[in-house]
Amino acid sequence: MRILVTGGAGFIGSHLCERLLGQGHDVICLDNFFTGSKDNIIHLMDNHRFELIRHDIVEPILLEVDRIYNLACPASPVHYQYNPVKTVKTSVMGMINMLGMAKRVKARILQASTSEVYGDPQVHPQTEEYWGNVNPIGIRSCYDEGKRIAETLMMDYHRQNGVDIRIIRIFNTYGPRMAENDGRVVSNFILQALRNEDITVYGDGSQTRSFCYVDDLVEGMIRMMESDGFIGPVNLGNPVENTILEFAEKIITITKSRSKIVFKPLPQDDPKQRRPNISLATEKLNWQPLVDLADGLGRTAGYFAARLNKG
Ligand code: NAD
Ligand code: UDP
Repeated sequence: MRILVTGGAGFIGSHLCERLLGQGHDVICLDNFFTGSKDNIIHLMDNHRFELIRHDIVEPILLEVDRIYNLACPASPVHYQYNPVKTVKTSVMGMINMLGMAKRVKARILQASTSEVYGDPQVHPQTEEYWGNVNPIGIRSCYDEGKRIAETLMMDYHRQNGVDIRIIRIFNTYGPRMAENDGRVVSNFILQALRNEDITVYGDGSQTRSFCYVDDLVEGMIRMMESDGFIGPVNLGNPVENTILEFAEKIITITKSRSKIVFKPLPQDDPKQRRPNISLATEKLNWQPLVDLADGLGRTAGYFAARLNKG
């Protein structure tokens, strides 16, 4: 098949492109390089089945493809809050452009939605039926509400125009090729630990997150795209839950770091708990994560250590 991956030069997108090429598909990677990088895909460039297009999905484009994975959108709070209006445009106008293309060329389209649609959840663990608890006017809203309207657009193009859709809600994912400067907890803690700098826990560290290794996520994404008639939304994430303080301690142990933990103010609207219920993914896709946290963090720390050594 010919497959378009928007945001393909980003963290998750680059792993997805690699996996799809490995399965023998033709892959078009489309990216505006806001948070993505050529470094992430340089190893794919001499594959004749790989094509790279510099483009912003806020502008229309027409490509003849069979599948569209729509990942284009900054994902870390630091990046999506840098230009919040642009973040909204990417999720709304970008989604409309990608759905318009899917409709026109009769491609199947998968939207990379997020656990952030559940906001600061009052149901724990989160199931797909839960409608969420999102602040519509806070500093995270450009991302959370953008992703919510993107889901709405997906469903309306499906109901109104018969577009073949798939929606996944991705929970915190980590692994090699996360951007060093993206401010997310995994990259921050690992880099601080490797440099023996203070580890910055926001708040008292009692908030929880559940971390999924990128290879597991990509497997779930592809299974969902190729699922027979099941459109979702479906949660994809690792249900093993950690407090952020426990997570900091784990990273210190894994990296054998001399770092100390320090406490910094908790950002506004930071969700207190997050853990996916993945029963639906297990039932419909026969999917569950396989890589355990210590193993995945070891591989990720190895990646960051190599980058630090390169200077
Ligand atoms: P990332 O920032 O590494 O990747 C996003 C990519 O999209 C980048 O390459 C960026 O340059 C590109 N991009 C951004 N805006 C664009 C635009 N307007 N036009 C074209 N390209 C654009 O982030 P990631 O972690 O790889 O996330 C990929 C997708 O998965 C995002 O949609 C994100 O919302 C979603 N997601 C990620 C996580 C996670 O934990 N990583 C969790 C939930 C959802
Ligand atoms: N966090 C932290 N220290 C950091 C970066 C993040 O304690 O240096 C916390 C953050 O407040 C949140 C959790 O780690 O509670 C996950 O943050 P991240 O930005 O990775 O993703 P989120 O799930 O909040 O979108």
